[in-house]
Amino acid sequence: MEEGRREEMRLEMESRSENEEFARVVVAVFLSRLDPTLEEMDDVKTAVSEAVTNAVLHGYGGGKGTIFIKAAVEGKDFSVEIRDQGVGIRDVEKAMEPMYTTDLTGERSGMGFSFMEAFMDQVEVISSPGQGTVVRMKKRIGA
Ligand code: ATP
Ligand code: MG
Repeated sequence: MEEGRREEMRLEMESRSENEEFARVVVAVFLSRLDPTLEEMDDVKTAVSEAVTNAVLHGYGGGKGTIFIKAAVEGKDFSVEIRDQGVGIRDVEKAMEPMYTTDLTGERSGMGFSFMEAFMDQVEVISSPGQGTVVRMKKRIGA
């Protein structure tokens, strides 16, 4: 890739749990042009996977909906945005606390946002009830 030039991709897909794998792979292939280490690649894949899973399970509650993904590379900087038009989050700060979950089945540990924050350099969440959720993440590759 030409040094410093910005390149972008967009992906729009149905909210389905199978699409979590699809999103993760597409983003990974796009990221590969920055020549990441395996660890960097895994970090980004995990973060994307957590955000998409949240959109499917919490945003749309397992029902119908569309998930929008945007990713960009510029120099060594990778950024990705996962957006849904689902129920939204009332208290974003609380939702991002480790082990906070609204899940009642006992299957979820409330660690999704913590993983995103651990694996990416920057995580920003914009959400409010009825307005859907946007998760923006950044990571510098080969820093
Ligand atoms: P885990 O990710 O460990 O399986 P979790 O999904 O509950 O569990 P987080 O990913 O950290 O944990 O999310 C915390 C909480 O934030 C969720 O339980 C949910 O209430 C809310 N949340 C997260 N993403 C969304 C979203 N896209 N739309 C609506 N609510 C969300
Ligand atoms: Mg989660």
